[in-house]
Amino acid sequence: MAHYDVVPATDEGWAHPPFAAEVTGTGDERLLWGRGTLDNKGSGAALLEAAERAAASGYRPQHDLYLFFGHDEETTGSGAVAAVALLQQRGVQVGFVLDEGGAVVEKLFPTVARPIAVVGVSEKGTTSFTLTVEQQGGHASTPPRLTATARLARAIVRVTEHPFRARLNAVTERMIRTVGAHGRGPVKFVFTRAGLFRPLLVAIFARMSDETAAIVRTTVAVTQLDAGLAANALAERAQAVLNVRIAIGSTVDETRRHLERAVADPLVRVDVLSANDPAPVSRMDGDTWSLLAETVAAVYPTAIVTPYVQTGATDSRQFARVSSTVYRFSPFEMSAAERATLHAKNERMHVDTFFAGIRFFTALLPRL
Ligand SMILES: [Zn+2]
Repeated sequence: MAHYDVVPATDEGWAHPPFAAEVTGTGDERLLWGRGTLDNKGSGAALLEAAERAAASGYRPQHDLYLFFGHDEETTGSGAVAAVALLQQRGVQVGFVLDEGGAVVEKLFPTVARPIAVVGVSEKGTTSFTLTVEQQGGHASTPPRLTATARLARAIVRVTEHPFRARLNAVTERMIRTVGAHGRGPVKFVFTRAGLFRPLLVAIFARMSDETAAIVRTTVAVTQLDAGLAANALAERAQAVLNVRIAIGSTVDETRRHLERAVADPLVRVDVLSANDPAPVSRMDGDTWSLLAETVAAVYPTAIVTPYVQTGATDSRQFARVSSTVYRFSPFEMSAAERATLHAKNERMHVDTFFAGIRFFTALLPRL
């Protein structure tokens, strides 16, 4: 699977135009610039390149093979919903689903020098809530003690000051043990004994970086605010949109109850705008896991392969209805600087990285 829609981009702030696919540099430093290189046209193009070459060479898969390319992953994901509905209608159960997701990354954990191939075996539930305050309007010269806007602001502060509980789930614990085994000193000692040092690790991850904090808890981001029609009139309605990524083991309902408790104000309504529970956790062992891990090793021989819980949503979550084995991995090496260009300016990929992606799918196909 891959998706060929992208998030919007204009020329502004880009060193090379987002839709020109310019290649710069020479040798190892050759770069391909463009919106979608990493997310996710790069995967789609690499997959098609490998599939076309395989077909031309007379390759016949042992099992039925479906190539799925979503056209609206970044918005509604209706393409994936329709594809899964069609598979269900045809009575198809899928043995192995592979979509975008984790990548080959570096410097994820201190003292671990080797690159790490992180394979998403689940993903957090992407859910949006609204906080709404409705109140009698009026002239701004005689405001009540707490206006709708101030009440909403207080609610937002309360949500921010009551973060969700941090904890280690089984997938994260497995990742810490797997990667920690390649670390040094105290990192190796503590990480390989993740079960024993659970409270310490939870505290470290919650503080180490925004990325690691998102791994151990449900996160909330206030993404949109809306209130008021005039500078001199009281807002009759004030609303905030909270984009929430629900940790595995929790649910939309539990998350809503937490938000209501944090807000602690009956005049602030908490509604679900769009709901998705976390995806089921796919197996981290067995034939299909080995098949993927061996393919990664064939292309990235020094990489440590580990499961993880993805923080972003993908089309693949729909496929949990037709498959118990859904993995999320983009076969590309991505530096922290490159990862920072996802959904941002100057998205780009090393040309060599793109070629490695083609080699990955070329190595994968004969195993299917
Ligand atoms: Zn994507």
